[in-house]
Amino acid sequence: MNALTSSSLGYPRIGAGREWKKALESFWAGKIGEEELTDRLAEVRLGNLRIQREKGIELIAVNDFSGYDHVLDTSAMFGIVPERFQYEGGEVSPGTYYAMARGEEGEAACEMTKWFNTNYHYIVPELQGAKPKLVENKPLKAYREAKETLGIQGKPVLLGLFTFLKLSKGYAETETDAWIDRLLPLYGQVLRELEKEGAEWVQVDEPVLSTNVSAEDMNRIEAIYKTLTEAAPGLKIMLQTYFESVEHYDRVVKLPVSGIGLDFVHGGEKTLKLLKSGGFPEGKILGAGIVDGRNIWRSDLKEKLDTIRDILAVVPGERVIVQTSCSLLHVPVSAVHEDKLDPVLRDALAFADEKLEEIVLLSKAAVSQTAETAEALQRNEKALAALRSSEARGNKAVQAAALQLQKVPAARGEGFGERRALQREKWKLPFLPTTTIGSFPQTAEVRQARSKWRKAEWTDEQYKGFIRSEIDKWIKLQEELDLDVLVHGEFERTDMVEFFGEKLDGFAFTRNGWVQSYGSRCVKPPVIYGDVAFTQPMTVEETVYAQSLTTRPVKGMLTGPVTILNWSFVRDDLSRDVVAYQISLALEKEVQALEEAGIEMIQIDEPAVREGLPLKKDEHGAYLDWAVNAFRSTTANVRATTQIHTHMCYCEFHDMIGSIRDMDADVISIETSRSHGELIESFEQHTYEKGIGLGVYDIHSPRVPSVEEMVSMIERALRVLDPQLFWINPDCGLKTRGSEETVAALRNMIAAAKQCRETM
Ligand code: GLN
Ligand code: ZN
Repeated sequence: MNALTSSSLGYPRIGAGREWKKALESFWAGKIGEEELTDRLAEVRLGNLRIQREKGIELIAVNDFSGYDHVLDTSAMFGIVPERFQYEGGEVSPGTYYAMARGEEGEAACEMTKWFNTNYHYIVPELQGAKPKLVENKPLKAYREAKETLGIQGKPVLLGLFTFLKLSKGYAETETDAWIDRLLPLYGQVLRELEKEGAEWVQVDEPVLSTNVSAEDMNRIEAIYKTLTEAAPGLKIMLQTYFESVEHYDRVVKLPVSGIGLDFVHGGEKTLKLLKSGGFPEGKILGAGIVDGRNIWRSDLKEKLDTIRDILAVVPGERVIVQTSCSLLHVPVSAVHEDKLDPVLRDALAFADEKLEEIVLLSKAAVSQTAETAEALQRNEKALAALRSSEARGNKAVQAAALQLQKVPAARGEGFGERRALQREKWKLPFLPTTTIGSFPQTAEVRQARSKWRKAEWTDEQYKGFIRSEIDKWIKLQEELDLDVLVHGEFERTDMVEFFGEKLDGFAFTRNGWVQSYGSRCVKPPVIYGDVAFTQPMTVEETVYAQSLTTRPVKGMLTGPVTILNWSFVRDDLSRDVVAYQISLALEKEVQALEEAGIEMIQIDEPAVREGLPLKKDEHGAYLDWAVNAFRSTTANVRATTQIHTHMCYCEFHDMIGSIRDMDADVISIETSRSHGELIESFEQHTYEKGIGLGVYDIHSPRVPSVEEMVSMIERALRVLDPQLFWINPDCGLKTRGSEETVAALRNMIAAAKQCRETM
């Protein structure tokens, strides 16, 4: 045997230069037609396959590519299109497909939500009223294309029936079995057609198996795969799981399919233990997810080889496929362009292409050492050692302090009751105080100014002068509007994390580290590679300047530690809580600097706390404990009179209320536009006894809500919340809105607040 088989589970669709994104956006803007779109997407798609072949991957995933999202593809494939799009059967046209994804005149887009615990978002299938039918066998098309154009015998990927159903809405739980019965023949047909075409393997993704699956659902899954195997007995199904170890290990590995794919990275220790103790059925293939598909770091190949050896002690090499832990959709394309980074950091990176190289190398080295593998292993060891011993990872003071925070929960000196009395005395705010969430419109002018400054067309002084003039303008406007608590407007910030990362030690920024977030939208998360440390005040100058223009309080504005963590690529040599604590320590210094400079109302945004929740419910508690502690440690040393605010965007309050209370902010603001009713209901069941602002209007739309509308929102909220603790604010930051609509909406909001004050 020369090597173990190597395989990919999926490759980034965006293209090395984001060609995919550019093609989509040109098509939406009407700059290119359907034909050119098709051609340009095909070019990216085939390019992706070629690269994987060049890297030496044997079993290459096909149909991982998409024109927007693979869950939407699955709906489209079965003709599952909500009635409002007037679909008349047959293959779903690009027009209808993109209308579902993005909405069209008057018709709301389908809902979009997070793909498990990643930052990828998928389009939620709506089953209501649907009469599913196989209208396009997309996996078959992809299989044919790879074979005919490139001679690649690909492994089509298909989203599994049960996961598809679990991610869908528009049906009652009692209809689950009816829906399985409806979809099963269609899945059977897809597989049969693939079998007929000569496909050897098909990868059926069932990530739901890594979440808390009930025993009853396991029965259903067993029945589904029994039927599907019978439908296409000549086709090998690789039932692929990822993102965590599976529940019901014994039952999962015995499912009647040819192969089972398991994640040996996320929940990897547990998976390995289960494999060792539970064994693996004779004759079945194990897809061993060895290389992390979710981070950007080089693997420790020695460690990986140990894992493979452990696996080979249970399953013989002929039955093991070496693969990534999940699709590479969640990592950038290639690290070769990162030549601007510190070489030590750059050599420690592995994006999609480098991860494929690791897979191929591991599949060889696991069987026999050659000069080639020995050299590669040595290079790997050297690169990792260099990063480990780099100066960036040598801040002993921060390391010790972070470990201390891990041991001792942080708390403010005084309880909320005492603080509340002191703060009321100090701030003398009116009943139902009004404020905003932080940012004001980032107009084209603001963005141009920043770009001129970045390109050195503008001096620091010019840029600063411009930012000041924006602050002047908006402080004046806020005074005219008669807001009670003002903000400086965040004009100097690109986004909530990059701005801070650029000023802190331990962060790096890639040139081309883009990953798909939703649709054509890509993000370039900062890289936390070293010990995080405070170097200089980050927000004091602009905030103090804004405060100097007014006698009303100006709120300082920071991004919280958990959000910075969850929106970055994080070093993997420390546990996430320790990295969060390092960030907390740096932010705590910023909070102190603000307080010393006379800014005594400070908002620390934590919109991404919920995103970090682990997939398994039994791990939620531990995560929330450290997340809350990380937040609290940023504010533990402020004076009792200093008022700490936080903002959380959308959050399902009912399952987090305990943690939100424990964050111990004096005031929290929450986004409610999408779920006002539900949120109010949750307050009927749980009391909340600290300051709270439920967004009274939706900032995601340019619509200016009327005074009456907002009055009725406020009145509804006040039926369940203490009016003495209620704040009035929009849903979220206003940076994506235009100036005119912002002023108009705020004017109505303040009128609504005043009307409520009078009538209460
Ligand atoms: N302070 C930030 C802003 O106003 C908060 C944004 C967010 O929560 N996503 O833009
Ligand atoms: Zn928000």
